[in-house]
Amino acid sequence: MATKRDYYEVLGVDKGVSADDLKKAYRKMAIKYHPDKNPDDPTAEEKFKEAAEAYDVLNDPQKKARYDQFGHAGMGGAAGGGYGAGGPSMDDIFSQFGDVFGDDSPFGSFFRGGQGGGQRQRVRRGSDLRIKLKLNLQEVANGVEKKIKVKRHVTCTTCGGNGSKNGTAVQTCSTCSGTGQTRKVVNTMLGQMVSTSTCPTCNGEGKLVTDRCDVCFGEGRVLQEDVIPLKIPAGVAEGIQLSVGGKGNVPPRGGVAGDLLIVVEEEEDPDLKRDGNNVVFDLYVNFVDAAIGTSVEVPTIDGKARITLEPGTQSGRILRLKGKGIKELNGYGRGDELVHVNVWTPKSLSSEERNMLEKLRNSPNFQPKPNKNEKGFFDKMKDFFHG
Ligand SMILES: [Zn+2]
Ligand SMILES: [Zn+2]
Repeated sequence: MATKRDYYEVLGVDKGVSADDLKKAYRKMAIKYHPDKNPDDPTAEEKFKEAAEAYDVLNDPQKKARYDQFGHAGMGGAAGGGYGAGGPSMDDIFSQFGDVFGDDSPFGSFFRGGQGGGQRQRVRRGSDLRIKLKLNLQEVANGVEKKIKVKRHVTCTTCGGNGSKNGTAVQTCSTCSGTGQTRKVVNTMLGQMVSTSTCPTCNGEGKLVTDRCDVCFGEGRVLQEDVIPLKIPAGVAEGIQLSVGGKGNVPPRGGVAGDLLIVVEEEEDPDLKRDGNNVVFDLYVNFVDAAIGTSVEVPTIDGKARITLEPGTQSGRILRLKGKGIKELNGYGRGDELVHVNVWTPKSLSSEERNMLEKLRNSPNFQPKPNKNEKGFFDKMKDFFHG
């Protein structure tokens, strides 16, 4: 396991935090990283446990004092949090800290549901928001920070999200007695069957708002334009999806927000083609430059670079600019730029040019004499990409 993070940092609180604020901070983290809410994020459970462990220590005056004095070193062994090397198990968390999410909490049922067995109730979760984000090659290669504007449903602050004026007038739906469903016995050829459908009175919510909030008209949420800061890591590729937890829509009348999902689109670069973590540039030179040698500028992700063509450079030669490619996603490596040399043959000639070339046509040095070291184009490509 990696180095342990500071418990205060984990919960985003400072040393003088009150018990109430500590509880609130833990609740926030636990909701954010609850594994049920993050089925696609394998790190969520780790973070969830990390938060539980931090709360366990900071919420206990003795453990907190020891931690404040000695840090993580003071928590080791039997005197520590009382967990194995892997920290608390999910069961530990639910049995020991379940009280944080008591009945007064809108998330009580959500967490009780996590204890396995019994009926599994979950807090309602709003929809995810999905946006496309175009990135150019520089942004893909080096990573980028962006601020994007999204219109999302957020909790109405006037009514606190329950949709009623003064936050009081929410009643259990009498049509369905709060279950959100209506049942009807129907006669079919196979006998009587019970058909269940969403309650039309409350639309399946089980509750009715009788005196609606003036701001959200009873919906408990309002549409708002948010500016969301994004940190795009280097090395992403077309189609990769990044998610920002809790920045999607909140559902009507209470619940947790869905996620903001960002789907990466790569803009085509006019010069450089991407090939995995490498970029490829097609360089065209005339055969005089190829024969005599020259120095040319080539575009790279980080701006221009000057490269030298040795005298006698063959068409199809590939020059490697080390480390001028794309950073590895979640890694430390970086690809290269491969400059692919194409010797350009003139397509039209003036009579003067033609005469000059005629003189060279039969010159001994102009007769092709490829040697064994000069591999064909496909062999070279193979060497570069698989060698
Ligand atoms: Zn409202
Ligand atoms: Zn109903």
